[in-house]
Amino acid sequence: MNTRQLGFIGRGHMGGRIARRLVDAGIEVLGLDTAPERAAAARARTAACVRDVVAFADVVLLSLPDSHVVEAVVEGAEGVPATSRAGHTTKLLNNFLNAAALAATADVMVAGKKAGLDLHVLPDVLNSSSSGVNFATLNRFPKIVDGDYLEGGPTSKRMTKDLVPYIDLVRGLGVASLNASGPLASSRRRCHRRHVGWHPIGGCKRPQNRSDAMKVFQGRAGTVSERRSATFSGVVWADPMMPTIDKVTVNSVCFTPGARTFWHTHEQGQILQVTSGSGFVCLDGEAPQTIRTGDVVWIGANERHWHGAGSDTLMVHTATSLGTTHWAEEVLEEVYRKAAGTGSPRLL
Ligand code: MN
Repeated sequence: MNTRQLGFIGRGHMGGRIARRLVDAGIEVLGLDTAPERAAAARARTAACVRDVVAFADVVLLSLPDSHVVEAVVEGAEGVPATSRAGHTTKLLNNFLNAAALAATADVMVAGKKAGLDLHVLPDVLNSSSSGVNFATLNRFPKIVDGDYLEGGPTSKRMTKDLVPYIDLVRGLGVASLNASGPLASSRRRCHRRHVGWHPIGGCKRPQNRSDAMKVFQGRAGTVSERRSATFSGVVWADPMMPTIDKVTVNSVCFTPGARTFWHTHEQGQILQVTSGSGFVCLDGEAPQTIRTGDVVWIGANERHWHGAGSDTLMVHTATSLGTTHWAEEVLEEVYRKAAGTGSPRLL
């Protein structure tokens, strides 16, 4: 095996740096990337296809964004050895163990801090005299407690990206993984959205006691409705139903005939329940849809949209907004008229 010649597929965030190091170390690297200029940046020769890379070297390194890309490269290339697939599977298994150790150790460190333990002593104790020792207690947290977070280390977003293929893998194998009832076993979509990483020390936002965990907000007797104008066209009134908690806001909003929101997005999505009248909801690039009393609308994260009343009926909806709302420009009269072009939505 000639390890002075290496193939290298994928030169992004991590791969580019690794490839450059290999070239600097005098190793002849033949690279491949969807963006050819990255090969030049890594000072590596560029191959035309995967097969060329495999023919060039006994050892081919992959540094690709996720398991689907890896599978596409491995399965699409004749001559890529079966050991590559084994290596890829092993990497997914390792990713899960790494994430589990980081997340569990982060929880322990937060608990230790809240209990008043010395965070410089705690990892030493775990590492020397208990069975809780792991990679994170040995190598990460002794540094993290001094503010050294390892620049370029795994962010929770990148860790989630690594965990999703693991979940797919074990589900496909029929293996009930650790935390089977927890976030790791939930659907891909939820896993993408959830914070699967670890909480920074002091950053745990879980309720501290029962009174914070559940609260009844009394009905609106005695409260004053809010006139909304800055990001709405026409006359719109709103009754806040629940103050914002964990970035969730619930409002009852009354649109008078012809009134509507500006274009906007919700960071984590929104649920609308029409409680009276009828109107429209419209996703950017799609035809407006009529909504009536009793209808429920789910709007996904960062989907650009507007909603409002029909041209000659009011609409009241309960809006549960998740995350920050980002407002854009108003819905022009001609755009709204097109929505209402066939007359206002018929009352059933
Ligand atoms: Mn909305």
